[in-house]
Amino acid sequence: MAEIIETEICVIGGGLAGGLAACAFAHRGFSVALVDAQDPETLKDAGFDGRTTAISYASARLFQRLGVWDALEADAEAIRDILITDGRAKNRLQNGVISNFSLQFDSSELDGETPLGWIIENRHLRRAILDVIKQNPNIRMIAPAKRLSTVYQAGTAQTILDSEDEIHSALVIAADGRFSALRGEANIKINNWRYNQTGIVATVAHERPHQGVAHEFFLPSGPFAILPMTNDRSSLVWTERSDAAKAYLALDENGFAQEIQNRFGDHLGKVMPEGPRWSYPLAFHLAHEFVAPRLALIGDAARAIHPIAGQGYNLGVKDIAALTDVITEGRDVGLDIGAMTVLEKYQRWRRFDSVTLALGTDALNRLFSNDFAPLRAARDIGMGAVGRIAPLRKFFMRHAGADVGNLPSLMARETV
Ligand SMILES: Cc1cc2nc3c(=O)[nH]c(=O)nc-3n(C[C@H](O)[C@H](O)[C@H](O)COP(=O)(O)OP(=O)(O)OC[C@H]3O[C@@H](n4cnc5c(N)ncnc54)[C@H](O)[C@@H]3O)c2cc1C
Repeated sequence: MAEIIETEICVIGGGLAGGLAACAFAHRGFSVALVDAQDPETLKDAGFDGRTTAISYASARLFQRLGVWDALEADAEAIRDILITDGRAKNRLQNGVISNFSLQFDSSELDGETPLGWIIENRHLRRAILDVIKQNPNIRMIAPAKRLSTVYQAGTAQTILDSEDEIHSALVIAADGRFSALRGEANIKINNWRYNQTGIVATVAHERPHQGVAHEFFLPSGPFAILPMTNDRSSLVWTERSDAAKAYLALDENGFAQEIQNRFGDHLGKVMPEGPRWSYPLAFHLAHEFVAPRLALIGDAARAIHPIAGQGYNLGVKDIAALTDVITEGRDVGLDIGAMTVLEKYQRWRRFDSVTLALGTDALNRLFSNDFAPLRAARDIGMGAVGRIAPLRKFFMRHAGADVGNLPSLMARETV
């Protein structure tokens, strides 16, 4: 029999952003209904998502405060160094010798203890978030269930699911991903374009230890990242022109291993791909508005960016932390948490930051994904300058760690 579920907050989408949002709001004492179209067991499965995520240290603070980090720590590999090399395949790192055009970010230049971030497999992130959800009595997870429609009224939003259950809430959070139907139904426009690039993702075992070094090689077809994982494995995020990517993905095991070895060089010894290859078509989109009456967009529903800087999910984590602060403050002074006066504060906080980072990563991809000589010279001069100036290096490290600007309380340095 169909049920009417009364709750303060209804989160649509139980991916990395929606799941974490449910944890954050429940932590602040809100009642939350979390809906996802997929079975939670599928979301945890190794076969669901081959990606790893680079988690910044400011995001990791939020994970710690929500109790998610304890279940993650054993599966998180610290990034101690980031080495960026502008190289055509042949003049990159060979026998540990760095090409002239490289830039190194070393965590010991900051406080000497905190890594630059952590690499975590998405399946472990999902598992840890789902474990916290299961243990929190403030969260009701409804999955698998698909949202069919939402009607916004004066005091409440009514969301209908395919099970015919109805959720009545003061606020709906759209965490339904890059093709967000909630966003479309609210008539929120987006800027978007495709990159004609595909992200090939694979896990690779190698002969020599990675020592916590993340590499990013800028090749003419796009960035090629080697990210350190636990058990001396690395995650490969290989951005390739879409037509060429198809051909690489179709190679047999030996051919694929050889192509990877050619790009890795020999600094990790022999490399051996493990498990399936994954591919993600790359596109950009950015919502014109992040809010509408009784609706707030977070994660990829708000914007999806090029993975060149490993910041997409970290932006989503900041959305969650900022929205939690704004809504808690509204509730504590007795305001309607779905009212535009409350939600606009979230929009002011998050949209500008998103525009800057989204366009910045887009420009970075365009600047580096080509072999045009004058541009190559300009970027090599830029990298050389950053490499020589310590305060500039620290500035970039703090940005990569998302430890800059007006940080929401769940991400701030001091404990809340
Ligand atoms: C190759 C690649 C590498 C990346 N690397 C990094 C990185 O290193 N660091 C980083 O910070 N970010 C990275 N990102 C970005 C990151 O993966 C995404 O930003 C993040 O996964 C988005 O999560 P989300 O929860 O917003 O969306 P999604 O994962 O798309 O989740 C949306 C959820 O909504 C559900 N849903 C949709 N419609 C409905 C409906 N009608 N009813 C019920 N449920 C619904 C879906 O089932 C799904 O579970 C990378 C991205 C790519 C492509």
